[in-house]
Amino acid sequence: MSATIIDGKAIAKQLREETAKQVATFTEQTGVTPHLVVVLVGEDAASQVYVRNKEKACLTAGMKSTIHRLSAETSQTELLELIDQLNRDQQTHGILVQLPLPGQIEEQAVLDAISPLKDVDAFHPENVGLLAQGRARFLPCTPAGCLQLIQHVCPETSGKHAVILGRSEIVGKPMGLLLIQRGVDATVTTCHSRTKNLAAITSQADILIAAIGKANFVTAEMVKPGAIVIDVGINRVDGKLVGDVDFQAVSEIASAITPVPGGVGPMTIANLLKNALTAARIQVSQQAE
Ligand code: NDP
Repeated sequence: MSATIIDGKAIAKQLREETAKQVATFTEQTGVTPHLVVVLVGEDAASQVYVRNKEKACLTAGMKSTIHRLSAETSQTELLELIDQLNRDQQTHGILVQLPLPGQIEEQAVLDAISPLKDVDAFHPENVGLLAQGRARFLPCTPAGCLQLIQHVCPETSGKHAVILGRSEIVGKPMGLLLIQRGVDATVTTCHSRTKNLAAITSQADILIAAIGKANFVTAEMVKPGAIVIDVGINRVDGKLVGDVDFQAVSEIASAITPVPGGVGPMTIANLLKNALTAARIQVSQQAE
């Protein structure tokens, strides 16, 4: 079998165009341009690229974007002060703090400080709680993107066995919450570094999502013939980006697979834009009350 390559770039472009249309209508009706503020602490090279891409995407969608670039020596107190200021600023609709943060800053304290109404990454405990209860305010960007890619090739996910590799707060855990929600109705198994007999579990998956950050970790022997394989991993090997899945070998076995790059990555940004618009809608309706 030779798998269908799921074109995340094209699917994300469509989603971004839909959001851009909704932004235009929103701005016409309210006079407000959605404004996403990104905070970048330090000079991490990958983060600089991500932040620039997010800014470009915002501008293309008709939104406003501001980047606060802070030095790597910024203290937690200074960062929390900036967040407090942004929380109170009526012209700021969405706030995103680019991770990872330098060692002197406790990430959780910063994410907890962002107003849940401006939390476009959906990392705040209130938003995670709402997601867990099936009444999400914002969908977490990367897992939502994975689900959209799955649904693109498999509109009927009910009863399918989805196996997730990775249990991080950013990808693995919320991915499971999205897949078991009513309407999606997958049966979910989440694996992590302590899971035993990993290949025996992954080879039962109708849908396999790899989010562990280990280059080419998922081999053909770990995949059930005909499975849908979503590769979230971003790893740099000899200056080239590769996923967590051995793409060549697995694409001979799977029915559909995402490439790296050009799979999940573009969907993450498309969902961020969607969330920034949602955040602007929430702020505007609150200010009108
Ligand atoms: P984390 O490092 O936070 O989590 C990795 C998870 O993988 C952990 O739960 C860990 O288990 C598990 N794991 C590690 N080794 C193994 C193993 N041998 N077998 C089974 N499970 C294992 O990573 P993230 O979730 O933040 O990111 C995962 C990957 O996705 C990275 O490559 C990252 O760059 C990429 N990514 C891509 C995005 C995109 O937009 N395309 C967005 C976000 C991330 P344990 O908990 O036990 O340690």
